[in-house]
Amino acid sequence: MQIFRRSGVVFRSGSELLVDASGIKGREALITHAHSDHAKPTSSNTYYMTSQTRALLGQNAGRQNMVEVPFGKKFRVGGFECSFRPSGHILGSAQLEVANGSHAVFTSDFKLQKSILFEGAEILPAETLVIETTFGTPEYSFPERDVVYEDIIRWVHSMLGQGRFVVLGGYSTGKAQELTKVCSELLGEAPLVYGRVFEQNRAYESQGVKLGDYIALDNNFGDANVLIMPPHLIDDSLLAAIGRQLGKKAEAAIATGWGLSKYKSFPLSDHADFNALLRYVKESAPKLVLTTHGFEKEFAGHVRKKLGINARPLSRDGQEAVTSFSG
Ligand SMILES: [Zn+2]
Ligand SMILES: [Zn+2]
Repeated sequence: MQIFRRSGVVFRSGSELLVDASGIKGREALITHAHSDHAKPTSSNTYYMTSQTRALLGQNAGRQNMVEVPFGKKFRVGGFECSFRPSGHILGSAQLEVANGSHAVFTSDFKLQKSILFEGAEILPAETLVIETTFGTPEYSFPERDVVYEDIIRWVHSMLGQGRFVVLGGYSTGKAQELTKVCSELLGEAPLVYGRVFEQNRAYESQGVKLGDYIALDNNFGDANVLIMPPHLIDDSLLAAIGRQLGKKAEAAIATGWGLSKYKSFPLSDHADFNALLRYVKESAPKLVLTTHGFEKEFAGHVRKKLGINARPLSRDGQEAVTSFSG
């Protein structure tokens, strides 16, 4: 089996298994989760995904042929036996187990931390492990999630105590649902949520994930003390406008693993930090590790040095992509 990257991750052994692929026509492909850098459905293809991912893709995925596969169920695509296993990243997000004589696991985006919404990813034993390394250097070390929740709650309470309005930034799919539940259940404040967040909250709830009370944003800033919206839409002019309307100051904080925001930020990430990545590799005990995304070179180096396991970044198609196995 060869494994390489070509607008997605490709497993090749006679036929090809395409994962999170773009730019394809008349093919079968797998989608690991609903984030737009992974789910790029276009017409004429057939896509396999979990039913939760299908729910999050919603209307955008209307015209294609979508096959919903439950977690843990084995299914065949070409010569490959596949199964999706939870990755703990967002609703419906899946790791992929692939077998066709040899055996590989692709983690896709994952985290090991349990959140207020989900269990963390299960660590799967693999012969070859393709691991997503967004935060693959030691400087990325995230606190326990409960500690971050407490920090958020303390900060929001202190802001509200000073008569401020609070804007919390989190990606519309994934982080915003976690923030919604933290606000409504841990903080006791039903938040206003931005339109796209509202839609995705509804999709989460349609799949049985309870988020507590929240209110759709509709020119109604006075209805709540907290607003949840995507971080890229938050800026000083927005905060000033909200402040003028409410006659009180609006303060923003962003939930992100990157910590690069000019606003207050909380290290609430949906990706594994460095130590969690190492732990995954160690417990999965693969013969070969292929790293993809983010600090892929750096992390492959750490795996070789710290764990003594053969590791390198996933190649592109055409560059020595051959991964040979016995059997
Ligand atoms: Zn993702
Ligand atoms: Zn991703």
